[in-house]
Amino acid sequence: MMRTLQADVLVIGGGATGAGVLLDLSLRGLRAILVEQSDLATGTSGRYHGLLHSGGRYVVRDAASAQECIEENVIVRHMVPHAIENTSGLFVAMPGDDPAYVEPWIKGCHAVGIPVEKIPVAEALREHPALNPALREAYRVPDASCDSFDLLHALVEGAEAHGGQALTYHRVSAIEVAGGQVKGALLEDRRRGESVRVHAPVIVNAAGPWADEVGRMAGVHIPLRLSKGIMVAMNVRWVNTILNRLDAPGDGDILVPVGTVCVIGTTSVTVPRPTDLDISPDEVTQMLDAGEVLIPGFRRARALRAWAGIRPLFDAPAISHDPGVHDEHHQVQDEEGRWITRTFSVLNHEKDGARGLFSIVGGKLTTFRLMAEKTVDQVCAHLGVSAPCTTASVELPAPEAGPYGGGRRHRGYHALPNRLAALEDAPTHTGLICECEIVTRPELEAAIEAGGAGVSLDDLRRDLRLGMGPCQGGFCAYRAAGILQEVQKLPAEDAIRALSRFVEERFRGNRPLLWGHQLRQALLDESIFRRQLGLTPPAEAASSSQEQPQETSRG
Ligand SMILES: Cc1cc2nc3c(=O)[nH]c(=O)nc-3n(C[C@H](O)[C@H](O)[C@H](O)COP(=O)(O)OP(=O)(O)OC[C@H]3O[C@@H](n4cnc5c(N)ncnc54)[C@H](O)[C@@H]3O)c2cc1C
Repeated sequence: MMRTLQADVLVIGGGATGAGVLLDLSLRGLRAILVEQSDLATGTSGRYHGLLHSGGRYVVRDAASAQECIEENVIVRHMVPHAIENTSGLFVAMPGDDPAYVEPWIKGCHAVGIPVEKIPVAEALREHPALNPALREAYRVPDASCDSFDLLHALVEGAEAHGGQALTYHRVSAIEVAGGQVKGALLEDRRRGESVRVHAPVIVNAAGPWADEVGRMAGVHIPLRLSKGIMVAMNVRWVNTILNRLDAPGDGDILVPVGTVCVIGTTSVTVPRPTDLDISPDEVTQMLDAGEVLIPGFRRARALRAWAGIRPLFDAPAISHDPGVHDEHHQVQDEEGRWITRTFSVLNHEKDGARGLFSIVGGKLTTFRLMAEKTVDQVCAHLGVSAPCTTASVELPAPEAGPYGGGRRHRGYHALPNRLAALEDAPTHTGLICECEIVTRPELEAAIEAGGAGVSLDDLRRDLRLGMGPCQGGFCAYRAAGILQEVQKLPAEDAIRALSRFVEERFRGNRPLLWGHQLRQALLDESIFRRQLGLTPPAEAASSSQEQPQETSRG
């Protein structure tokens, strides 16, 4: 018999938006279930640039978006302190940047309330010696770096503490609508190979770049512009603050320090499908050239990994007078979608013949909480529930145990020095599995136990940062596969399959970067995996694989 579940609201999508909606619904006392087709943060939220925006990027052309960013920046820092590194940010004017941009930019910051402080060039260069000495001007803003994996785990765990439920590896295959009213959805439990029915009078479509695909299951079309952006992680943390070029937004104009690396990005190219994540060597070259403008010698560092994400930009002009739409200030667009507004819209699909279906589209990771609030306000109005939103005043603890805590033990922001200190304090030395990110055997075992049957090495990577450092899994992957086999008592073939999948996925992010030091590292990895362990060479596995990359690549 088919498993059935009952909820007041079904949320589709385990990105930042869906997880924010789940938390908000749960805090308002509604029975909510979130379903995600893969693991949490495997869509755009795990493939983003890592910047908790101050809003400075948007002040000149998209003031509404800038205002949302600065307001949410303050709230999110308080809500999930352990997911935020307070790097602050600099807007830097380099030779070639338009000097006429500076004045409207400063005015724009003042207009929306972004605190901005001019820093003497000499001071900026003293604080950040790697910065290009040709720097003309520098302004400090309250940008920060945000770990989306930690953020999402905290949101879901916070929701679960209030009765919410999250089902990963559950894909919505159909939405049931009868007489113009949503009745629920059919799910495919991808790990057990079973079908599940969820009865729910309200569905929130938070499927990001897949929102139109999900909408079509209920006969609704959502006009999205899918905008691909790429990022490249370098093995040097060149600066301890976020660098933004002080010019109109363009390609490769932001550098974000994340853990021990720096991430340069990004681009904006319209693509037809949410799975169009391929990266060409030219795109990588473009990022390295852009990095060189900020940091002379940028190219001398090793490019560790490249990945792409898809922005789900809402592409519906002239909607603001439609009463069914909460439209956060629509804006005009250019050829490549860069100037479609980065604000968001909540769509009520009652007028489309699907009463009870709401879609939340557009926005940014920085504004996920506000997006959730506006969505849940509409859901509550629809259900006649008067509970107010409280997410702006909650502080979510760092997960320490359970499915999302896994083997984590950090309380503050995840940083290598904290892990090192914890290791030194450990009463007994219990074996390092991933030396780059300092993941120990007990942590890994706890995360495997918590992940349950079917947990993949890639899931463990997202939980623990396993394999995300300079060797990209070259030395820890086979150890982790051995421990997975031991803990879950897997047949050897299953452990080898798990290892092959992980190595393939890691290799996808290396493929566009095979030159210099990175090529040497890849050859070393190849000889470990092929010659020592007899696995399919990653290059052949990756090029023969027909499957589109589903797993997140960030870091
Ligand atoms: C290159 C790039 C850089 C960016 N940088 C920044 C930045 O620095 N700062 C910032 O604030 N924002 C940034 N953004 C924007 C931000 O990342 C996105 O706006 C945000 O992550 C979108 O989150 P989401 O939850 O709406 O979508 P997603 O994270 O994509 O989540 C949607 C989820 O729905 C799931 N799903 C789809 N179909 C189904 C189905 N049928 N059944 C079940 N589940 C399903 C998917 O698997 C996916 O996990 C960036 C975006 C890109 C592309």
